[in-house]
Amino acid sequence: MELLKNKILTDGTVNNEEVLKVDSFLNHQIEAALLNEIGKEFKRRFADVKVDRILTVEASGIAIAVMAAQYFGNVPVVFAKKQESRNLDADIYRSKVYSFTKDKEYEIMVSKRYISEGENVLIVDDFLAKGGAVLGMTDIINQAGANLVGVGIVIEKSYQDGSQILQEKGIRVESLACIKSLKDKTIRFK
Ligand code: 5GP
Repeated sequence: MELLKNKILTDGTVNNEEVLKVDSFLNHQIEAALLNEIGKEFKRRFADVKVDRILTVEASGIAIAVMAAQYFGNVPVVFAKKQESRNLDADIYRSKVYSFTKDKEYEIMVSKRYISEGENVLIVDDFLAKGGAVLGMTDIINQAGANLVGVGIVIEKSYQDGSQILQEKGIRVESLACIKSLKDKTIRFK
């Protein structure tokens, strides 16, 4: 997606060879017009599948998922929570996720009310690195007896192994921008 790649080139910054910072339009400040185009592009790529629900993880995935949902007939969006809270139902699916950026394990939780057996679920997220977040969501979809129809990723770091791990499991991944390398603090696309 050229619009997205140009935005990454002009506004993205490279912290080290592992982490791309896109706080100015995706992870902290949000550019709604760009996210709207991203939502449209996910619909174009997954036009051939029936989607009943979109699943993401808080916080950065939420805006992306909401924008995309408009193009999938306003299907419900559910975001996995990372923090226990009194508001959370007692009956929940849980999965453990290793966070590559924070270098620690955390739990993601989804109420059993918001994901049902037999539903077709599309996962969306901001980044794909080592695949931990997506695998955690996949685990929850499996626990619920729902069907994963695909994974839509805004920025894939193709030099990390998440994409390969998911594809080896037969999971369809559509990434809108694929980064080959961040070496020498230079962003190179695949
Ligand atoms: P994974 O679980 O695939 O290893 O990493 C995906 C999650 O880690 C994403 O939800 C994202 O929040 C975060 N992440 C991984 N790599 C990057 C990165 O280079 N930049 C930013 N901003 N977030 C990242």
